[in-house]
Amino acid sequence: MMHMNRRSALQLLSGAASFSIAARAGRLWAQPRKLKPDAASVLIVVDVQNCFIAGGTLAVPRGEDVVPVINRVAPAFQNVVLTQDWHPAGHASFASSYPGRKPFETIKLAYGEQVLWPDHCVQGTSDAALDKDLNIPQAELIVRKGFRRQIDSYSAFQEADRKTPTGLGGYLRERRMRRVFVTGLATDFCVAWTALDARRAGFDTYVIEDACRGIDLNGSLAAAWKKMAERGVRRIQSTDIELG
Ligand SMILES: [Zn+2]
Repeated sequence: MMHMNRRSALQLLSGAASFSIAARAGRLWAQPRKLKPDAASVLIVVDVQNCFIAGGTLAVPRGEDVVPVINRVAPAFQNVVLTQDWHPAGHASFASSYPGRKPFETIKLAYGEQVLWPDHCVQGTSDAALDKDLNIPQAELIVRKGFRRQIDSYSAFQEADRKTPTGLGGYLRERRMRRVFVTGLATDFCVAWTALDARRAGFDTYVIEDACRGIDLNGSLAAAWKKMAERGVRRIQSTDIELG
């Protein structure tokens, strides 16, 4: 039978201690510090409306899946802004406005290329209402966009003519916001355009990927992520946010 002397017992203890330090270091390495939204951070919830979820006129595949994720992260934010796509009947982005044209074709408008969509989010309809399961009573502002008949607006900051501001940039600057976290629908259109414009306006910009869903029209989803990465938009997951 082996008898453990004092020296080998000490070696065993010091080995255990260094193992535990290594394990702790490994854990720190595996889990970088989470992002804690501060008073200068704002959550933007893009177009979580009936039209873009199952049963809507322009349903994004699994669009409804963003709702529980957004509801989970929203309480971590002191500032939340919602957006609503808000078109008049006969809007320039509707295929039905052009005889012979079909949804998802593109057309040249005065301001450039425009994807044609099915009629969607018509002002005052239940299709345009926010999803009833979205639970963010503290949201302080709803930005409606695309309400001019001749101009579409994917971005919450600037309309598709790239000249007409929505006013959101001024609102956020006046409120001294610095960091913008974008969620909602759809990743490759309104979310991406909003994030790119937030970056252009000088905000630190994050897109919470699992709080978004895409349409992916002819590779548009990969193209949107590529462009956002090139412009310095940071791609994160909801688990990267400290919910505290
Ligand atoms: Zn629209």
